[in-house]
Amino acid sequence: MIPASFDYVAPTSVAEALAALAEAGDDAKVLAGGQSLLPILRMRLNAPEKVIDLGRIEELRGVREDGEHIVIGAMTTYADLLDSDLVREHAAVLHAAVKEVADPQIRHRGTVGGALVHADPAGDVGAPALALDTEFVIAGSGGERSVPAGEFFHDLFETAVGEGELLTSIRVPKHTGWGGHYEKFVRVAHQWSIVAVAAAVRVEGGTIAEAAIGLTNMGSTPLRALAVEAALVGAEATDEAIRTACAAAAEGTNPPSDLNGSADYRRALAPVLTRRAVLAAAGG
Ligand SMILES: Cc1cc2nc3c(=O)[nH]c(=O)nc-3n(C[C@H](O)[C@H](O)[C@H](O)COP(=O)(O)OP(=O)(O)OC[C@H]3O[C@@H](n4cnc5c(N)ncnc54)[C@H](O)[C@@H]3O)c2cc1C
Repeated sequence: MIPASFDYVAPTSVAEALAALAEAGDDAKVLAGGQSLLPILRMRLNAPEKVIDLGRIEELRGVREDGEHIVIGAMTTYADLLDSDLVREHAAVLHAAVKEVADPQIRHRGTVGGALVHADPAGDVGAPALALDTEFVIAGSGGERSVPAGEFFHDLFETAVGEGELLTSIRVPKHTGWGGHYEKFVRVAHQWSIVAVAAAVRVEGGTIAEAAIGLTNMGSTPLRALAVEAALVGAEATDEAIRTACAAAAEGTNPPSDLNGSADYRRALAPVLTRRAVLAAAGG
C-alpha cells in the first residue's frame, strides 16, 4: 500500500528538529532508519501530517568516549555500531546483540535510537541496553534530561520519550574486561527473537565477580533477570554452577503467547538460553 500523503522536513540540527516537532504537535512523526515506521505508514496504521527526517542531523550520529561512558548517537546505524572498536571493547554484549538484528540491509538503515524508541519487546537492543545500565538522553523544548535504563521502557511500544521529544543519545557505562554474549532463539534465520538473553559477566580467577542479564521478549518490556544475577555472583564459572544459578531465569517474567510459542514454552526456554549465554560470556 502507498502511505497517506504527508509533509516532509529534513532539519540539520536537533534544535531545528525540536522546533518542527513543537510546531506540528501530535500530527508529526519522527523518521530515523524507517525500518519500522515506513511499514507502519504503508499499512496506514498511522498517518502523520508531517514526517521529520533525522537523517541529516550529523550531531546524532557516531560513537565516542566520554570518561567512564561510551556515548552512542541515536542515529547511529547498527552497521556503524558493529564497526566500532569502542563498542566491541567496552560493551561486548551490545555488540553481540546487534550482530543478531535482522539482515545486513536492515542493519545498514536501522538505527539504535529508532529501535529503542520503537520498543518492540522482541527487539534485540533493549535487553543489552538494560543489562548495561544505559542512560537515555532525551531532548525536548525544556532542555535535556537523562533517564536511567530501568525507567526508560514503560510498556509495549511505550518509552519515556514523550510528545515533542527526541532521544538524542545513549550513554553506556564502560564494561571493560567483561565478557558478553547474546543468545537469540529463532526458528528461521533473520526472525525476531522468540526469546533472547543478553549476558555480561566479569570473571576473576575462575569465579564470577559481576553479572548483568537482560531478557528479550519475556514481558512487554526488556527485563533484568535479577535473581540469576544474584545467584551468579560468587559462583564458579563452571557449567554446573552456572546451570544452577540460571534455573530462576523466568522468575518475575510475563512472557507472551503467540504463534511462535506459548508463555510456558518461553518460560522453559529462558533458563536454557541464559545458561548458554552466561557460559559463552564467561568464556566457557
Ligand atoms: C524485515 C524486518 C526484520 C527485522 N528484524 C529485526 C530483528 O530481528 N531484531 C530487531 O531488533 N529489530 C528488527 N527489525 C526492526 C529494526 O531493528 C528497526 O530498524 C528498528 O526497530 C527501528 O529503527 P529505525 O531506525 O528503522 O526507526 P524508524 O522505523 O525510523 O522509527 C521507529 C519509531 O521510533 C521513532 N523514532 C526514531 N528515532 C527516534 C528518536 N531519535 N527520537 C524519538 N523518536 C524516534 C519513530 O518516530 C518511530 O515511531 C526488523 C525490521 C524489519 C523491517
